[in-house]
Amino acid sequence: MTQEKLPHHSHGLSEIEQRVKNLENLLVEKGLVNPQAMDELVDTYEHRVGPQNGARVVARAWVDPEYRQRLLSSATDAIMEMGYKGRQGEHMQAVENTDEVHNMVVCTLCSCYPWPVLGLPPTWYKASSYRARAVSEPRAVLAEFGVELDPQKEVRVWDSTSEIRYLVLPQRPENTENLSEEQLADLVNRDSMIGVALADSPEINQKERK
Ligand code: FE
Repeated sequence: MTQEKLPHHSHGLSEIEQRVKNLENLLVEKGLVNPQAMDELVDTYEHRVGPQNGARVVARAWVDPEYRQRLLSSATDAIMEMGYKGRQGEHMQAVENTDEVHNMVVCTLCSCYPWPVLGLPPTWYKASSYRARAVSEPRAVLAEFGVELDPQKEVRVWDSTSEIRYLVLPQRPENTENLSEEQLADLVNRDSMIGVALADSPEINQKERK
């Protein structure tokens, strides 16, 4: 179908949302999917599977050096230890940010993303501009996300595939020595695990909660 032939929708749904809706209605009508099962699936990815899972993995790695080692050497198993597994998380690799290296993740082909630890990908992750520019000019993209790196720091860009999904292990913020694992997890935002943000500092996090 060409762009011109697509009907114009003026009732609040985007073209793609309308197409999804039509497809969903058709599948239900034909008895191919059960609407309850569909709602369950949506609920799973909206509420139960999301970046809070990845944040717990990161916080554990920050407080437990042996867990960090396991995460870096065999991420799929280490993540499964915390109870997170499933579709699009079968082959995980964790990449660690250090004083020398900053990692960021993209899928140049489509939108491969580690669902069990991060949930569903944000819209910008699927946009062609991010997919192209993350590779061609990663520092410019990072700057647009508000991340200014030391020019000495190496930026490594990891291209996700249907085979491997990446989780960035952000650097632990300063002045967090006294925080519990749970409080640390609160500092780990989604974007920091994609590598387009840093983990929150405890002060910023305090402000945002008010
Ligand atoms: Fe992809």
